Amino acid sequence: MPDRFLSSMIISYKGRNILVDCGEGTQVAMRKAHTGFKATDIICITHFHGDHIFGLPGLLLTIGNSGRIEPITIIGPIGLRDILDAFLTSIPYLPYDINLIEDPKVGLGFKIFGNVLQVRDKNSYAEDEIIISTLDLEHSSPCLGYSFYIPRRPKFLPEKAIEYGIPKEKWSILQSGKAIVYKGNTYRPSQMLGKKRRGIKLSYITDTRPIDEIVGFIEESNFFVCEGTYGDSGDIEKAIENKHMTFREAAELAFKGKVDRLLLTHFSPAMEDPNTYIKHAKTIFENTIIGYDGYTEVLSYE
Ligand SMILES: [Zn+2]
Ligand SMILES: [Zn+2]
Repeated sequence: MPDRFLSSMIISYKGRNILVDCGEGTQVAMRKAHTGFKATDIICITHFHGDHIFGLPGLLLTIGNSGRIEPITIIGPIGLRDILDAFLTSIPYLPYDINLIEDPKVGLGFKIFGNVLQVRDKNSYAEDEIIISTLDLEHSSPCLGYSFYIPRRPKFLPEKAIEYGIPKEKWSILQSGKAIVYKGNTYRPSQMLGKKRRGIKLSYITDTRPIDEIVGFIEESNFFVCEGTYGDSGDIEKAIENKHMTFREAAELAFKGKVDRLLLTHFSPAMEDPNTYIKHAKTIFENTIIGYDGYTEVLSYE
């Protein structure tokens, strides 16, 4: 649409970027938002309908032209390898490798290795910086929902360290997560830590019917991005037939999942101004935002 590009999201974390979906024109939107291309470490694809992937070949080429040589991780549902092979016939050379993860069934822990967000080796003991989880959705094509979780370490309790008689100069070692040996005794960081703290959770659900499994998957997200293909609750028949959702249905998920805030996106081109229908969502879930091009949000630890 002239004033509305296709739905896509970019997460910026410590200068590294994770892109979710890449419809036609996503690289134009990225240019407008000054995200850059070189730091695109992970691309998550929800499904293979054109409005979610037709921008991928062009973007991969642009990332190549940005001087990137580090590998990129691409995650997507079953069939990802075939789609990518087809796209790559028109891009015979890319200066970086692609690490493909098709239909992951377990959460993937990522950490910055060599300045790039890469999936953690099972044998490495490093703590995960971002955990990406997926959920099978109900759409007219295999489709994945995503959640992104940034864990937060528990607080270091100096009073505990004092209790154990550990000198101050040793505290930073414990704080960094390593055990120390002092006067013949081993002390573990877990002995000096407070209770668990809430990390940052962001979830992204599109395209799908509002299946029950979504509620647990998005639970207590700080920010929940969800499709609202139809604004008018009267369009429910169309939503069921085309395996999409109305604003009301998305708001019900947000309410049941006890999220902090809901951002609606993926509007039908037939809907000229989605704001007209916001009350269909707000009567169910007050903290609803109608997404628009370039919408930016900063999420921090509480
Ligand atoms: Zn679709
Ligand atoms: Zn779509």
